Amino acid sequence: MSSPIPPTLIDLQHLRLDDARALLAHARQDSHPQPGEAPLHYLQRLIDGLSELSLKDPLTGLGNRRYLHAALERAIETVARSGDAVLLLLIDIDHFKHINDAHGHLAGDQVLQAVANRLALCVRPMDMVARYGGEEFALLLPNCRPACGRAVADRVRAAIESLRIEVAPSTQLQVTVSIGGAYAPEWVRSTTELWIERADLQLYRAKHNGRNQVMLELPQQISVSAEEKGLLFSHLPLPVPEAAGQLPDAAPENAGTPIPRVIA
Ligand code: GH3
Ligand code: MG
Ligand code: MG
Repeated sequence: MSSPIPPTLIDLQHLRLDDARALLAHARQDSHPQPGEAPLHYLQRLIDGLSELSLKDPLTGLGNRRYLHAALERAIETVARSGDAVLLLLIDIDHFKHINDAHGHLAGDQVLQAVANRLALCVRPMDMVARYGGEEFALLLPNCRPACGRAVADRVRAAIESLRIEVAPSTQLQVTVSIGGAYAPEWVRSTTELWIERADLQLYRAKHNGRNQVMLELPQQISVSAEEKGLLFSHLPLPVPEAAGQLPDAAPENAGTPIPRVIA
C-alpha cells in the first residue's frame, strides 16, 4: 500500500502544471490554488479536473467513448453476476452529412448539441448517455427487460424526430435517427468490442431498411427448469461476487456468442 506523501514534500514550483492549468481554464474550471490551499489538496483538485475532462465530450458535455467503454465493462461484470438485462443502444443521426453540407458545420454542431440534450432528457437517472463518435450516440440502459427495450428505443427515436432545432433565425431543422440495440450477454463474459459490434450490426440493419427506425437483437431465450438449472450449475461455486466473475473464463470459446438466458 502506498503511503501518503507528506504535504511538505510537494513544492508546486518544481512541477510543470501549465498545460494542465490551461486545459482546465479552457473548460472554465478553476485552475489556480486558492489562498491557503495545501499543495496536496490543490494537486488532487487538478487531477480530478483532468480526469473529468478526459471522459467528457467537449461539444455536447456528454460522456465520451472512453467513458462509454468503462461503463460497458462495468455492466458486463455486473450482468455476469446478477443476470440483469442491460440494453445498449447505438443511435446514429440519419443523413447528417447533408446538414453540414446544406447549412454549414456550425449548424451541424448545434444539431449535435440539441440531439445530445434531448437524449439526456429521455433517460432515467440510472441510464447513461455518451457521444460515441461524430454523429453517433450511445445509451446504456440497465434493468431494461426485453419486453420494454423496443418501446424505450422507439420512444427515443420519436423524441428526436419531434425536435425542431433552430440553427438560424427562421431556420429550423428536423432530424431522424436510426437505432440499433443489443443486450449485454448473461452468464458468459464478453468484451465491450463484441457487444458494440452486435449493436452496430443492428444499427446497420436499421439504416439498410430505410433509416428512422429501431432494430434490436433479442436475446435468445431458452427455457431451463429449476432441476436442469441445478444440474447445469451445481458443480460451480456459489455465486459470491468474485467466483461468479470467474465463470466466463471457464468457457472462452463461448465468449461473445449470444447467450442463452436461463429462466427458472
Ligand atoms: P447515414 O444516414 O448513413 O448515417 O449518413 P450520414 O450522412 O449521417 O453519415 P456519414 O458518415 O456519411 O456522415 C457523417 C458526417 O458527420 C460526416 C462528418 O463530417 C460529420 N461530423 C462528424 N463529427 C462532427 C462534428 O463534431 N460536427 C459536425 N458539424 N459534423 C460532424
Ligand atoms: Mg455514423
Ligand atoms: Mg449518420
